[in-house]
Amino acid sequence: MLQTKGYAVKSAESSFEAFDFERRELGAKDVLIEIQFCGVCHSDIHQARNEWGNSMYPMVPGHEIVGRVAQIGADVSKFKTDDFAGIGCFVDSCGECENCAQDFEQFCLTHCSQTYNSTEMDKKTPTFGGYSSQYVVDENYALRISDTKNLAAVAPLLCAGITTYSPLKRFNVREGQKVGIIGLGGLGHMGVKFAVSMGAEVTVFSTSPSKEDDARKLGAHNFVVTKEPENMKPLAGKFDFILDTVSAVHDLNMYLKLLKLKGVMVLVGAPEKPSEVPAFSLISNNRTLAGSGIGGIAETQEMLDYCAENDIVSDVEIIPIQQIEAAYERTVKGDVRYRFVIDMQSLNQA
Ligand code: NAP
Ligand code: ZN
Repeated sequence: MLQTKGYAVKSAESSFEAFDFERRELGAKDVLIEIQFCGVCHSDIHQARNEWGNSMYPMVPGHEIVGRVAQIGADVSKFKTDDFAGIGCFVDSCGECENCAQDFEQFCLTHCSQTYNSTEMDKKTPTFGGYSSQYVVDENYALRISDTKNLAAVAPLLCAGITTYSPLKRFNVREGQKVGIIGLGGLGHMGVKFAVSMGAEVTVFSTSPSKEDDARKLGAHNFVVTKEPENMKPLAGKFDFILDTVSAVHDLNMYLKLLKLKGVMVLVGAPEKPSEVPAFSLISNNRTLAGSGIGGIAETQEMLDYCAENDIVSDVEIIPIQQIEAAYERTVKGDVRYRFVIDMQSLNQA
């Protein structure tokens, strides 16, 4: 077994502490990734604190992983040593069911083995995430990283990137459309970059007036402070597509009203409690309310290649692992510009 250093929480209430554990020895199709950077997703916080009610402890979070391929199994063909590779939200699936066959491995009908807070395909062996020194993964579930200029800024693409890219592609967001992005955090700021790159006119809906300058630098055309209801009224019926990235319970109805005929709103934010949706908010204008969960391996690779071609990376604040608690507190307050990324070298500091 491979001795691995990490940081874990031992219960929903406990703080992070150093945690040593073992990864499996490399199988023929496995690669060993020496983790250089790992993004801090709000999903890490929901799960570390058991806000979704499905947490397993000890938990090593982290599913925005990039690093160097340090070793490869005998039958690996996609990677060679010293390549750069990424891992997103899942590390295995059956590969054969109806959903896997359509490249939606994240919804595997047998078992999607998530990167952490989950189990391997045996449904017994716990998985530990990217707040750690290394990961052993089947090559088919690792992503190729071609843009290596700023690896820290590439890491968040593995979750925040694919989660926002996928619904924009699925609903064919394009030039001439008005798109809203709700919440300017890790997902939201990537949503702005993608929607702008696809040619849409982008409006950010935010609770934080202080983020207006940043939103415009990211390419947004308009910025609306949602705490003031009169700002919303003139926008009724104007939007083709709205992406909701908010991590806490909030009113969906005030955004549904902004959709024009056949407009679509997609939920990617995953608050711990449900929201009420009045039927008439959807009946009027034949609106659609949809959800979207990360993306399969093929689409994640497509997104990484799209980012490399279009010079898209995440805006990051790099921290040592020792500052993870403070980073969680700031993220919960909406005070992250716009993704914390852990430099895994810091695991070696005393
Ligand atoms: P984040 O960086 O914390 O950003 C969330 C943003 O939502 C905040 O920056 C803030 O933006 C806004 N917000 C926070 N609290 C709010 C409140 N009470 N009312 C209104 N707005 C509020 O989080 P993230 O990492 O982007 O993740 C966002 C959500 O997506 C989380 O729930 C996460 O679990 C989920 N997620 C889902 C998927 C998926 O596959 N569907 C994948 C990854 C993450 P402003 O300051 O601009 O208002
Ligand atoms: Zn995530």
